[in-house]
Amino acid sequence: MAHPEAAATPPASTDPLSDALAQLAEAASALDLSDGLHRLLATPRRELQVSVPLRRDDGSTAVLSGYRVQHNFTRGPAKGGLRYSPSVDLDEVRALAMWMTWKCALVDVPYGGAKGGVAVDPRDHSTSELERITRRYTSEILPIIGPDVDIPAPDIGTDETTMAWIMDTFSVAKGYTVPGVVTGKPISLGGSLGRALATSRGVAHIALMAMASRGIDPAHATAAVQGFGKVGRGTARFLADAGVRVRAVSDIDGAIYSHDGLDIARLSEHVDRTGSVVGFDASEQIDPAYLLALEVDVLVPAAVEGVLTEDNAHAVQATIVVEGANGPTTKAADAILQQRDVLVVPDILANAGGVVVSYFEWVQANQAYQWNEREVNDRLEEKMARAWHDVVAHAGAHGRTFRQAATMIAVERVVEAHRLRGLYP
Ligand code: GLU
Repeated sequence: MAHPEAAATPPASTDPLSDALAQLAEAASALDLSDGLHRLLATPRRELQVSVPLRRDDGSTAVLSGYRVQHNFTRGPAKGGLRYSPSVDLDEVRALAMWMTWKCALVDVPYGGAKGGVAVDPRDHSTSELERITRRYTSEILPIIGPDVDIPAPDIGTDETTMAWIMDTFSVAKGYTVPGVVTGKPISLGGSLGRALATSRGVAHIALMAMASRGIDPAHATAAVQGFGKVGRGTARFLADAGVRVRAVSDIDGAIYSHDGLDIARLSEHVDRTGSVVGFDASEQIDPAYLLALEVDVLVPAAVEGVLTEDNAHAVQATIVVEGANGPTTKAADAILQQRDVLVVPDILANAGGVVVSYFEWVQANQAYQWNEREVNDRLEEKMARAWHDVVAHAGAHGRTFRQAATMIAVERVVEAHRLRGLYP
């Protein structure tokens, strides 16, 4: 554990949309796109802002704000998660929708990108209130979603139960069951085996390939994982299974550290029992901000966007950053890490495992046939490895960062589809 003094205070406010637009502008210029085409890609195809009136358990009424942004449909139906978080606003959803377009293109699944959100802290609501929020939000966005149009999935603050409610609300309105309208459903409703851990499996797989590319043996490697939710928890487990000593993890309540590596299986039991990583006996508690500056080989920010900033990027000691979260590294931090020769594996590559298995789930719904888990995991690893090699080859051939290479590959694929389809009318 080192350099706590170098670690910055928690992140300042960030602007994911500006970062997303700047990444696109860089790719557009490197690809020599026309201004018109650049503008087309910078502009969401469709945005819906809705109010979500909620009858609270105490009989009072609250009114929440909800959004669904469909950034692009050129390669197929729009695809992307639904987030419940107090930080949700239109610009955040716009950025996340654009990143979904690039992510789907990079791993070559036949989708455009979308994202949805409700500005709400799910911890402030009972299960029945969350159900009413979800059903009303679904009713409000119903005209623009569907298995051939736009397919929501879980993201921060939502889970398979949320997806079941969305599927049910949509199906009741249609008069028949439509399993393909969402992915990340419970298995018994047509969810895919392997979906729950798919993002983590992909992040860990990419992290191991990144280690190999830098000559790091997992058996002698160390890692820190920020976030112990849908992405971070599984990632920590898969890394530990591969022999990596996971020295620190954190959640919304705090961060814990063990120099010799945390026992992730026991830690998971502790979290199931207590609801937090904090208080795990075989660890010491550290300031969550220090986690980003720990002396480890691999840092996995797997919580929210904008955590690596110009204020703390200098303090990062890891040689590899694998973005489990969407947009965890601001543009300024990205430049600092690049200059310090830290390998940043971008979100649209690192965390694409979730949407890859979402795609498999949608295919299984269309086929009305369930694949076994081995088939799902093998195909996932194949897709992740292919995307990894595409990015490595592009970055090497053109002297670009992995983020620049990944964005350029993705943008180029969307542009090619657009060129073939033409502009109507
Ligand atoms: N929310 C996840 C993401 O950001 C999954 C999206 C999906 O499966 O559609 O990639």
